Amino acid sequence: MVNTTIKTTKSQEIFAAAQNLMPGGVSSPVRAFKSVGGQPIVFDRVQGAYIWDVDGNRYIDYVGTWGPAICGHAHPEVISALHAALEKGTSFGAPCALENVLAEMVIDAIPSIEMVRFVNSGTEACMAVLRLMRAFTGREKVIKFEGCYHGHADMFLVKAGSGVATLGLPDSPGVPKSVTSNTLTAPYNDLEAVKALFAENPNEIAGVILEPVVGNAGFIPPDAGFLEGLREITHEYGALLVFDEVMTGFRIAYGGAQEKFGVTPDLTTLGKIIGGGLPVGAYGGRRDIMEMVAPAGPVYQAGTLSGNPLAMTAGIKTLELLQKPGTYEYLDKITKKLSDGLLQIASECGHEACGGQISGMFGFFFTGGKVHNYEDAKKSDTVKFGRFHRGMLERGVYLAPSQFEAGFTAIAHTDEDIEQTLAAAREVMSSL
Ligand SMILES: *Cc1c(COP(=O)(O)O)cnc(C)c1O
Repeated sequence: MVNTTIKTTKSQEIFAAAQNLMPGGVSSPVRAFKSVGGQPIVFDRVQGAYIWDVDGNRYIDYVGTWGPAICGHAHPEVISALHAALEKGTSFGAPCALENVLAEMVIDAIPSIEMVRFVNSGTEACMAVLRLMRAFTGREKVIKFEGCYHGHADMFLVKAGSGVATLGLPDSPGVPKSVTSNTLTAPYNDLEAVKALFAENPNEIAGVILEPVVGNAGFIPPDAGFLEGLREITHEYGALLVFDEVMTGFRIAYGGAQEKFGVTPDLTTLGKIIGGGLPVGAYGGRRDIMEMVAPAGPVYQAGTLSGNPLAMTAGIKTLELLQKPGTYEYLDKITKKLSDGLLQIASECGHEACGGQISGMFGFFFTGGKVHNYEDAKKSDTVKFGRFHRGMLERGVYLAPSQFEAGFTAIAHTDEDIEQTLAAAREVMSSL
């Protein structure tokens, strides 16, 4: 399995051509490997815990298409459900019974969600939820946290973590100051900073939005009391609490981080897993708030492909698979083995490192101590991470190509996959 001389000639040819056709050769920035160096590999197919590149190399995958592949790629039951749905057509642009099925599953699962609206991406869900927060409260300011990513809409591109951090852009050109002037930011896990913002802007803050477990600045869990504290402060000031669970929904637990931590927000955004690998997002929450969304209410939001029958089908089947008893226990067990193993190996090889996992989400930083926020995360040795990443890739392990991204396991990962990954990590770490 250890093969440090993989050939990636075809990947290189295809990527070289792509750079003339698409900006940076990719359809989404982090894919270009800018922050780890070297060339990205070009995928040919995915199955279970593995991906194959166009040169025929196989990799154990810990990106899982950035989260959706929690059951493993191309799960046979998802694929066969999609085949059956495909026979009935690809898009209706009209109500479809599958929407009810997925809506009920989401409402049953996620404690805060009494009604839901389907969209096509996490970005769209976050844009829409912000409009709704503002409409419901009649206030314009919103608090987000440094290092949290809520999609690429203008008003969220302030200290927005991974993709943006990776490019070294604190903001993006093209985002007007007037649009972000109502976006207030605080360090993650810092309740005092949030209190200060509310005290300075009483009656002006519509709400607080956050990743209840951060994945877009690397993996950063909430400190004890942080989520509870935000719930209290937002209540006190008549503001809304919004959990962006695009990544954590159905991953941290079936009911998301809100179930795991027992803190119920007013609104929640979802994406990734609920589309089972097809493009989907959703937002939902308290009925009185959601009833403001058009056409029930005046807050406009629409989508040609929203509620798409193929996406609904993949989502429904994926959630059904996740409902099997033992799913999250298994994810927790193998991911803990991976995370503990990586930290142990790093320490044996003399590298300062920290990290952790919850269920099938994990993270690893080349820095000592503990990472509580984005400032801490930025202390990580990204050059070392780049070399680690490359070494793992050469040994058939595909990790997220940035120090500032969480990793994901799937129920398709076996004990043996984890052991092979750790064996590769030992070789690479001892040579860094
Ligand atoms: C991925 C992600 C988004 C954006 O979702 P897209 O489908 O990529 O637009 C938003 N918020 C969080 C927390 C995410 O992880």
